[in-house]
Amino acid sequence: MTEEIYDVIVLGGGAGGAPAAIRAAQLGGKVAVVECENFGGQCMNRGCIPFGHMMVASNILGGLSLGKEMGLHFSGISKDYATLIKRQNELIDFMRQGVEGTLKKNRVKIISGRGKIAGKGKVEVNGKSISYKSIILATGAKWLKPEFPGADLEEVVTSDYLLNTEKLPQRVLLFGRSPWLIEIAQFLHRFGSQTTLATKERNILSDESKTISSRLRKALKKEEIDIKTQGEIVAATKKKDGLHVELSSKDGLETVVVDKVITIERGASLKDLGLKRINLDEDSHYLTVNSKMESAIEGVYAIGDLTGPQSKHFSHLASHQGIIAAENAMDKDASINPRTFTRIVFTQPQIACVGLTPKEAKDAGYDVVVGAAPYGMNPFGMIISENEGIVEVVAEKRYGQVLGVHFIGTDASEMAGQAVLAIQMEATVEELSRASFPHPTLSESLAEAARDALGKPIYLP
Ligand SMILES: Cc1cc2nc3c(=O)[nH]c(=O)nc-3n(C[C@H](O)[C@H](O)[C@H](O)COP(=O)(O)OP(=O)(O)OC[C@H]3O[C@@H](n4cnc5c(N)ncnc54)[C@H](O)[C@@H]3O)c2cc1C
Repeated sequence: MTEEIYDVIVLGGGAGGAPAAIRAAQLGGKVAVVECENFGGQCMNRGCIPFGHMMVASNILGGLSLGKEMGLHFSGISKDYATLIKRQNELIDFMRQGVEGTLKKNRVKIISGRGKIAGKGKVEVNGKSISYKSIILATGAKWLKPEFPGADLEEVVTSDYLLNTEKLPQRVLLFGRSPWLIEIAQFLHRFGSQTTLATKERNILSDESKTISSRLRKALKKEEIDIKTQGEIVAATKKKDGLHVELSSKDGLETVVVDKVITIERGASLKDLGLKRINLDEDSHYLTVNSKMESAIEGVYAIGDLTGPQSKHFSHLASHQGIIAAENAMDKDASINPRTFTRIVFTQPQIACVGLTPKEAKDAGYDVVVGAAPYGMNPFGMIISENEGIVEVVAEKRYGQVLGVHFIGTDASEMAGQAVLAIQMEATVEELSRASFPHPTLSESLAEAARDALGKPIYLP
């Protein structure tokens, strides 16, 4: 029997792999995707979609105070977590079927099983060898064990725990620097858990613009979420009344008694992919690729969480990279635009940061100008009592090219799309300032922040 040869084999059908396979097929390739669990990967099954769904529920609860201000009174609010989980599982099922259907419609061959490179141009799945001209590695990241005494206890869990339980922990410590922990902290707090959020960093979201991280911290503190910075778990010990966690932080050493510690530590796992067989390094933390998503070996591409540290683990980045890798595998010439790298957190207030922070822009050697427009000065912002919200535009002084736009507040993640477009199209602050955004909307603050960067705000005092 002749062995099947594919133009492109995609290993992993998650956030990056599925669009990669579809794009390669659209370009006329004979394509196969190998998936060992569920299509949609971490994002659809255990990340963006379930937790995005939970954050919508959390935001509904957060919006009740605005309703009250407007004379809408709600009584007897009950929170049924089992129903929430049931609804999101149905949604995930539906979306998964959508991915599988789209792959099939594009004539992508679906192969179920765990794939491994078997040698140059060969992949082994379920003991069978298949051949490729190009391969796109899209196998994502895996859970890493946190490193502290007691980390092996069953009470120390990952965010997956919340997807498999019908009852939320009453007392919980969320430990780490992942943005998803901040979302989860707010969700659990609003659903009635006693919540502590601890990070090793000097602040939550410490890599982002100071304006954004400090406003988020203030908002969470106002909601009475306990935040510990410069934190370290010294040890966790199981006792009768719960897990005793010795936590050292900027506030000193204390014992926090909880039911669960939730951590989110993820890293690429290069060891299981057979990389050595094609002379690729499998001892690094992640697989290094260039802007075309090419590895050091011709015809071998890699995308998504497999290719970067946890601070770069975003679904939209993985899918963008997937499309680029697919186009290059099909003899096109595509490159990633690092300037539009977007980070989001679906807390309330929401966070969305596109491109360079003021500090990153300065460190990159730009002469930087920053403009800002608070939502509190925006008519729609006033309607919805949005006090923490702000848009911050970062540009270089000489030509006014927009280098970054940072949002905190309602609909930040939706508005970030406008900023992505502006940066992608190399817009200047002058051009942004002249855009006529609809009224009354929060997006008007984007033009006002650009006008502020030019020193001519219209509505700011
Ligand atoms: C709690 C949480 C919340 C998140 N929320 C968001 C969010 O709101 N927005 C956002 O942008 N990002 C979010 N992320 C990050 C996002 O999930 C990832 O960045 C994204 O899924 C990465 O896509 P990927 O294709 O690289 O990997 P994945 O989506 O994980 O896909 C990898 C796929 O490869 C399969 N696979 C692995 N090994 C093999 C093998 N050897 N053979 C065959 N198949 C294999 C896996 O089963 C999986 O389906 C979240 C992450 C977490 C943990």
